[in-house]
Amino acid sequence: MDNPYVAMWQDLGLDLGAHDALLEVLGKAYTDFFLTQKNRPEGMGYFDFVMSEVHGLRIRELLDEKAAGRKVIGSFCVFVPEEIALAANATLVGLCSGADFAMEEVEKLLPRNTCALIKSAFGFKLGRVCPYLESADMVVGENTCDGKKKAYESLGSLVENLYVMDLPQVKSEHGRALLKSEYERFRGAVEALTGVAVTAESLKAAIRTVNAKRAAIHRLSSLRKADPAPISGMDALLANQVFFYDNPERFTESVNKICDELERRIAEKEGAFPAETPRVLISGCPQAVPNWKLPFIVESSGAVIVGEESCVGERGARNLTDESGETVAEMMAAIVDRYFQVDCAIFTPNHDRLAHIEEMAAAYRADGVIHYGLQFCTPYLMESFPVEKALEEKSIPTLRIETDYSMEDMGQLKTRVEAFIEQLR
Ligand code: SF4
Ligand code: SF4
Repeated sequence: MDNPYVAMWQDLGLDLGAHDALLEVLGKAYTDFFLTQKNRPEGMGYFDFVMSEVHGLRIRELLDEKAAGRKVIGSFCVFVPEEIALAANATLVGLCSGADFAMEEVEKLLPRNTCALIKSAFGFKLGRVCPYLESADMVVGENTCDGKKKAYESLGSLVENLYVMDLPQVKSEHGRALLKSEYERFRGAVEALTGVAVTAESLKAAIRTVNAKRAAIHRLSSLRKADPAPISGMDALLANQVFFYDNPERFTESVNKICDELERRIAEKEGAFPAETPRVLISGCPQAVPNWKLPFIVESSGAVIVGEESCVGERGARNLTDESGETVAEMMAAIVDRYFQVDCAIFTPNHDRLAHIEEMAAAYRADGVIHYGLQFCTPYLMESFPVEKALEEKSIPTLRIETDYSMEDMGQLKTRVEAFIEQLR
């Protein structure tokens, strides 16, 4: 049967041949990594459906929204506030950057020793394979690490409406003031894009929508404290990844539904893995779709992942925005307060992150921590040393991994992860 989305992809200017090849690889990886898991909660059927339609139905929905006058904004970072986009009649979607694509072309624009995440963003654009990127009326970059900051200078010539947000690097009063003024500037830019002004009513509603989505993910995370863990780390990561694409209300409802099921599973002591399976916390760089390599290795080597200290995980989703403000100014201040707590490794010093990893290891009863660093990611690789030292001092076994998106090191990683899990037993 003909694919009903081909005309839509063509209209978006995708390279259909390359896009078919990408979907084939994605589909195979999804089948091999996710559908082969045992004891999955039934509610994961929703996420399987979302993933099967990630370039289809969801894109059609976004195009329908655009036809009705809404705008779509693409973002690469959890510092871009969804609340402001929603309040000004725009939909925010994450641009995944989790796979290598068109690397030869990418390396004509970026140094070879650039992290895989940045290269992937360029590869998806140069290869014309990402319908989210091509649907976006505005793409937001941010001055976080040096790699991203400089890469946006080149991406600006490839992407039509690239908006770059400046971000602080220090958690000081000056830093907070910069974030505040940048969020005000972003509000102005989104209002200019959509032609819709943010009002106290629309901002309050947007804060509630995003808080509900985050609260649902907090509920899911909290259920992973149980032993046996009622859901695999792979499936929980998938929910955290879908967080960035899905319609927010529908996402909240689906996550809460799966949480109801997980509560029943916990009461019946039904786990994704047997009780007393070694428990691992993953900490470090974001794991964007379809970057499933390390979690798959961990969970196919006899451990269960019980938490992600990551922007696709608890670093990105923790903390709600105070809903009590009544004016736009009060609510904007609450948004700044909420986002200023994100402890990305671009901040210096970044003690909060270390404290949060220790807190998570205790709360999720992790037997060990795997620090996941992308090759050439200076901020997280630098922090991996003090993280390891501090955790080892607390007798929490820690494994530092440095990898990229290729599958070439699968065997070597598996050997190291298996030895680590053996140590945890
Ligand atoms: S790791 Fe830092 S730069 Fe990357 S998404 Fe998170 S907050 Fe943004
Ligand atoms: S993974 Fe590291 S180097 Fe890459 S974009 Fe994120 S912070 Fe920058």
